[in-house]
Amino acid sequence: MPQHRYMLPEDRIPDRWYNIAADLPTMPPPPLNPGTGEPIGPEALAAIFPMALIEQEVSTERYIPIPDPVREIYAMWRPTPLYRAVGLEQALGTNCKIFYKYEGVSPAGSHKPNTSVPQAFYNKEAGVARLSTETGAGQWGSSLSFACQRFGIECDVFMVRVSYDSKPYRRLMMETWGGTCIASPSDQTNAGRAILADNPDSSGSLGIAISEAVEVAATHDDTNYALGSVLNHVLLHQTVVGQEAKEQLEMAGAYPDVVIGCVGGGSNFAGISFPFLQDKIEGRDIRIVAVEPSSCPTLTRGTYGYDFGDTAQMTPLLPMHSLGHGFIPPSIHSGGLRYHGMAPLVSHVVHEGLVEATAYSQIECFTEAVRFARAEGIIPAPEPSHAIRQVVAEVERAKEEGVEKTILFNLCGHGHFDMAAYADFLHGDMQDLDVDETELARATEALAALPGIV
Ligand SMILES: *Cc1c(COP(=O)(O)O)cnc(C)c1O
Repeated sequence: MPQHRYMLPEDRIPDRWYNIAADLPTMPPPPLNPGTGEPIGPEALAAIFPMALIEQEVSTERYIPIPDPVREIYAMWRPTPLYRAVGLEQALGTNCKIFYKYEGVSPAGSHKPNTSVPQAFYNKEAGVARLSTETGAGQWGSSLSFACQRFGIECDVFMVRVSYDSKPYRRLMMETWGGTCIASPSDQTNAGRAILADNPDSSGSLGIAISEAVEVAATHDDTNYALGSVLNHVLLHQTVVGQEAKEQLEMAGAYPDVVIGCVGGGSNFAGISFPFLQDKIEGRDIRIVAVEPSSCPTLTRGTYGYDFGDTAQMTPLLPMHSLGHGFIPPSIHSGGLRYHGMAPLVSHVVHEGLVEATAYSQIECFTEAVRFARAEGIIPAPEPSHAIRQVVAEVERAKEEGVEKTILFNLCGHGHFDMAAYADFLHGDMQDLDVDETELARATEALAALPGIV
């Protein structure tokens, strides 16, 4: 019987993060100041981020040491298990070897604490008393509340109103860890008050919540802002995932032909894949695939150019694939994948042809999530069901090509707080939500006024 689970001892928690910027054949273009069109300098970020994170954001050092206090907290759940998906291989009737890295064992249930912990640590070191952030479905807000509690700093989370009302359990996790969860738009910021004056019943959006969180950080000396995806330093922190996976695959005597991850802002995908992308850049024959929802098709249908990170146009201009900062994705169950933009590093490697991108609709993804749960026992979050759908596509492709492949994917979170989505699927109430083409055309049009990438 093949082995199911590959565990590393605690002293094999990586002691450094891997920075892909050191090995890229070409560098992504810099973020721009929207006012001047000039590249922004580190000082522009100093009002809301600690210098240690700003340095990581622009670093080209290949390895950055992980501070001991961060590794000690990582040790609560890291190294995470790598599983051979023997049950899924049987269910699919394939001779391909399928492996998955399971990040759902963290206290918050996803990969996000890999970055919330170091972000809280560096802010604490810098004397910051409070972090403010936004959250959609609540994965990031709960992960940051957990991390802030570890370091004894306050955490204010602006949670999109519609999720605040419909997903009380994620909010209660934040409150259990001592965080404060505020429905956004709120009356606590100028941005929120302006929206409420216009529409007292606003259901909110991630864009509005970002504006509120940034405003709190920018207007309070003791408060900084924290972001759960997209930025270089966030992707950097997630590389513990891929580094461990490499070592665990070695234990299994395997190396992947293809590495797969779902993409919202790009952080869990970068985490599993960048340590393997390093090998690819050095000439190794390996494919790397990013998977997104077809209703928010940033990499597969977006424009590669400059756009704002938020709806309210408060952030610097980022070089990325984007559907337009005004694009409102249909309300699919994968809340974590409903973002109009993409991490600049992920956009860049897709643009350079180093990474492939595919998109699937939600019913086919949930079909695979349920097959996975029955074969493997773990109930996936809706987001990584996209990665599982691509695994099945790879198995089919291998069959057509008459080859046996080794496949690795990131199971970046469990779905225990997403059972309403499973209820929809199991009861036949789920629908595939297509992109509204008129809406996409409208949001894309706004990009024409912003700088392109040559
Ligand atoms: C937040 C989240 C995502 C999307 O974010 P990325 O930065 O693209 O990883 C995906 N899956 C889960 C479980 C999440 O919590």
